[in-house]
Amino acid sequence: MKKNILIVPGDGIGQEVTEVGKKVLEKIAEKFGHEFTYDEALIGHVAIEATGNPLPDETLEKMRASDAVLFGAVGHPKYDNDPSAKVRPEQGLLKMRKELGLYANLRPIKLFDELLEASSIKPEILKGSDILFFRELTGDIYFGEKGRKNDGDTAYDIAEYSRFEVERIARKAFDAARTRRKKLCSVDKANVLETSRLWREVVQQLAPEYPDVEVEHMFVDSAAMMLIKDPRRFDVVVTANLFGDILTDEASQIAGSMGMLASASIGDSTGVYEPIHGSAHDITGKGIANPLASVLSAALLLDISFGLKEESDTIIAAVDKLLKDGFRTRDIADASTPENMILNTQAAGEELLKRI
Ligand code: NAD
Repeated sequence: MKKNILIVPGDGIGQEVTEVGKKVLEKIAEKFGHEFTYDEALIGHVAIEATGNPLPDETLEKMRASDAVLFGAVGHPKYDNDPSAKVRPEQGLLKMRKELGLYANLRPIKLFDELLEASSIKPEILKGSDILFFRELTGDIYFGEKGRKNDGDTAYDIAEYSRFEVERIARKAFDAARTRRKKLCSVDKANVLETSRLWREVVQQLAPEYPDVEVEHMFVDSAAMMLIKDPRRFDVVVTANLFGDILTDEASQIAGSMGMLASASIGDSTGVYEPIHGSAHDITGKGIANPLASVLSAALLLDISFGLKEESDTIIAAVDKLLKDGFRTRDIADASTPENMILNTQAAGEELLKRI
């Protein structure tokens, strides 16, 4: 297969981890006889420094022209401590999502058995958890009308969803459920919110088209509780932007570490694949960042954008083997990990390539 992949490392450890993600893609291409070509582009603080713009037109053009984007992270301490800065790295991220029409954010929450102890939840509750979240990304309270009234003493944010917006993400979630355990949980607050009532109505109307998928509707408060009480009951979860934002961060704790979780943002054109973590200024340049979230993002890219399931599974199996062989990066090591089994970013990448 011939494909063109754009590498957009961004800021901080984004640079360090995407380097490993790219090497893994190169290794997979070599092993399976694919021809991947690569280009690179700027976003975030590094793009502001070079061009004054957090998402230069050239980057956007390259994104549109590529078959998939492997993304790192954006962010710099300079802006975190200056909320009044007019040009900010994260504007690049939001504009990218908007311009590429990335309306669905997929976040697989899969716990590697070797990391059971790294989570704050009891191993016997967690073992076997495997959830795929679909968070709607371009609607809801984040994008509706907002403002102040009554001399600024009252504020409002309007939540809005159209039938079209709910249907397109619900279909993606139904399709994904078909390839997994065939269970879909739609999370809403239909007892209180009109947007949620529309959401539930649309999902109910689609359900007969997917008779092989078992559909369950759950209120968001109940879902927040169930994720911790019994995470194994979930297979695919689909929800609105605000609920998804909160529930996916809650669910990330099931997997133990930020350094292990990948995500995909997809729409109708180029998909963007990235770790859920940020630019991690506290460890930037030390060479100790866990590259596995970027590596697992590369696995998602192969599966979702290119349909290369076997190649994707090969990467996941190599990560599993690396952990089973006892190797850890600092963030997922514990008191029982021997010092010689704690790898830096580059060494973790090299051990992983051997296992592919
Ligand atoms: P963060 O995810 O960068 O880091 C949180 C903590 O987790 C830090 O202690 C960090 O060292 C650790 N960590 C994160 N990824 C790791 C990895 N791969 N290996 C080892 N440890 C890892 O979040 P933050 O500190 O709140 O934010 C730092 C910057 O990142 C901010 O500027 C923020 O705006 C930005 N950010 C960007 C994104 C994105 O680009 N999608 C997401 C979140 C935060």
